[in-house]
Amino acid sequence: MSKIVGIETILVQLPTRREHKWTGLTEPIGRYVLVKMTDDQGRIGWGEAPALKDWGGEFGRYFGESPAIATLVIERYLAPAVAGLEPGNFVDLHARMDSMVKGYPYAKAAVEFAAYDLAGRALGVPVHALLGGCARKQVAVTHSLGLIAIDEAEAEAAKVVSEGIRTIKIKVGVDPKRDIEIVRVVRNAVGPAVELCVDGNEGYPTPGLAIRTIRAMEAYGLKYAEQPVMGIEQLALVARAIDTPVMADESAWNAHDVIQIIEKRAAQIVSIYTTKPGGLYRAMEVAAVARAAGIICNVNGSVETGVGNLANIHLAAAAPAAVLSCVVPVSTPVEAQHGQAAGIYYKDDLIKTAMRFVDGAIEVPMGPGMGIEVDEAKVAKYRVETK
Ligand SMILES: [Mg+2]
Repeated sequence: MSKIVGIETILVQLPTRREHKWTGLTEPIGRYVLVKMTDDQGRIGWGEAPALKDWGGEFGRYFGESPAIATLVIERYLAPAVAGLEPGNFVDLHARMDSMVKGYPYAKAAVEFAAYDLAGRALGVPVHALLGGCARKQVAVTHSLGLIAIDEAEAEAAKVVSEGIRTIKIKVGVDPKRDIEIVRVVRNAVGPAVELCVDGNEGYPTPGLAIRTIRAMEAYGLKYAEQPVMGIEQLALVARAIDTPVMADESAWNAHDVIQIIEKRAAQIVSIYTTKPGGLYRAMEVAAVARAAGIICNVNGSVETGVGNLANIHLAAAAPAAVLSCVVPVSTPVEAQHGQAAGIYYKDDLIKTAMRFVDGAIEVPMGPGMGIEVDEAKVAKYRVETK
């Protein structure tokens, strides 16, 4: 097989369709680090670190990276560590990255996905084939309503449902009265057939407040309540007290966290990411541990550009445990946008062709590597200087 000979980092900033916020977020989404990996045959693979400095695990035990930090870690430590390696040797890739620097899962995930893309292109197979196969050919999309005004949420919910969306996630964790009201209004707007879930991003200060708030929301029908409070122990208190399944997100970064969640019976659902455990190889371990315990999963992300989102899509395609609809964008370049809102967070994207969105789901790309070409002219257009 070929060898990795070059790694370049590129900081990009995509323009957003509307402001997209959640509890704790302090900087606009879409300012992310791309990895462009080259092999000795001249092939190129792409990866992305959707680095968010203010997103993390409970009690500071994990934390996001800023774009500047991810760039530094990739350039100074990870690029030299993996130079000369065969892109398909993911075990060795992780061993080398981990022996060079502890932590920094966003930076590692970006390098690793570029290697998956490169290996898939070299072998002529899609990334999900390298992860074990194709558990599903469509990935149903959950549309996420950020912290926006209730009337705005009402209008957007009705619009995305008319475009095929079957599951809507509502960001909450701010003020119980507002949070219950937004669930009521969105339920009225979309009718009984659409599934609703709420994500507190650890925003409720006590399990008791979370329990009272979610119980009031249950009158409007909830599919699950995601991370209402901080901490596995607190989450377990909420999970025991409500009928709605609890999803662990900030509490579930890697496979070991899921073992703790199982021990404490803290959640019935785990949200897996490509970034939290440091890449697809590790994300498949998270999914395997969850599956062994009967925990179901979705794939969740950080509103990646098309590059990082294709990592999410291939993970969702390959992981048998990922039976729930996924909070992923429908990455669509401007040329293919026609005023739709379902899964659209950016006005443009970095991939040459739009993801195929049919009946509320993204069709998994079957081409080599990530399956859709990166548009290098767009990468140049949205490139910004590191700060
Ligand atoms: Mg979440």
